[in-house]
Amino acid sequence: MRARLVIAIAGLIVGTALLSAQARRTLDIYVVDVEGGNATLFVPPSGESVLIDAGNGGPQAARDAARIFDATRDAGLTQIDHYITTHWHGDHFGGLADLAKLIPIKAYYDHGPTVQPQPAATEFLDTIYPALTAQAKRTIVKPGDRIAVKGLDWRIFASGGQVIQSSLPGGGGRNPFCAAFKPQDPDPTENAQSVGSLITFGKFRVVHPGDLTWNKEGELMCPSNRLGTADLLIVGHHGQSISNSEVMVHALRPRVEIINNGTRKGGQPEAMRILMSSPGLEDVWQMHFSLLSGQEYTVPGMFIANGIDQQPDVMPIGAWTAPPQGQQAPPAPVHNGKAYWFKLSAQQDGTLTVTNTRNNFTKTYRPVNLSTN
Ligand SMILES: [Zn+2]
Repeated sequence: MRARLVIAIAGLIVGTALLSAQARRTLDIYVVDVEGGNATLFVPPSGESVLIDAGNGGPQAARDAARIFDATRDAGLTQIDHYITTHWHGDHFGGLADLAKLIPIKAYYDHGPTVQPQPAATEFLDTIYPALTAQAKRTIVKPGDRIAVKGLDWRIFASGGQVIQSSLPGGGGRNPFCAAFKPQDPDPTENAQSVGSLITFGKFRVVHPGDLTWNKEGELMCPSNRLGTADLLIVGHHGQSISNSEVMVHALRPRVEIINNGTRKGGQPEAMRILMSSPGLEDVWQMHFSLLSGQEYTVPGMFIANGIDQQPDVMPIGAWTAPPQGQQAPPAPVHNGKAYWFKLSAQQDGTLTVTNTRNNFTKTYRPVNLSTN
């Protein structure tokens, strides 16, 4: 009797899993809170999944890996089919080894060796990464490469400090923002090596530039806009102002921007001015309230997935002054409590629904007919 019940329940679970796989019609995207790092999971209707980055390393590695694993469980995944490391900074690759212990990863993609050897990255690349990729497939991607994902068109537009030289489908027009583009100081770091992806699902288009910095955005987007427009921009470099130039953000004309910022990383006024003045923009969603935004430069709280641990009695209007470029902000308090992700569901016609899992605030963006704008 009891065995029959167990079999019946097991059958029900398998049946439900099959049903949800068959019924999936949307491209679901999870932007996971890794406290100012990156972890973005893509699950198309085929169930063939892609994860970009694995959050922080060091003492936060297990925490961030567990948060990403929760998202894979929510999506009903039993493996990660494709995993991309945008670049060898600890807030992007740090949680990878811990994550690989929780869920199998079938194929790895990256830009090649680090240009910025630091102890953590060097140790990871010399010993840990070879062991992980020994049981899987590793591909060093170049601009123009495609990653074969059933149901998605996945294009690499930047990698290893290089950008595509010819336009991708939908791109190629003159970029009017180039005339006013002013380069910043050259960026010799891993950020400029980031792997950038343009992902297309029917008419729905997403740009994920990793931490690509300002001057690379100029190389990519000028004189012609090689990417075209995007419905969704996973905002580059956590919403910092050494990325997110007008030639990139404004030319892409995203309807929705999601910033994977931390409480003290990203979201400073100069970046927010550009992000929030982007033509055609409907909303910005922030992973955290950022002290660097203050109330003056932030979005309404309902669009913010996570707060700050030490909530002040009165929210200052002005933004905190960010430390000078190249200097570290004072370390943020470690947040090991409940973290909320953004869950996005895109349809082939370009419709996008974003849900803030903290407050269940949800909003649907219908496709825009640009010719009537
Ligand atoms: Zn980063």
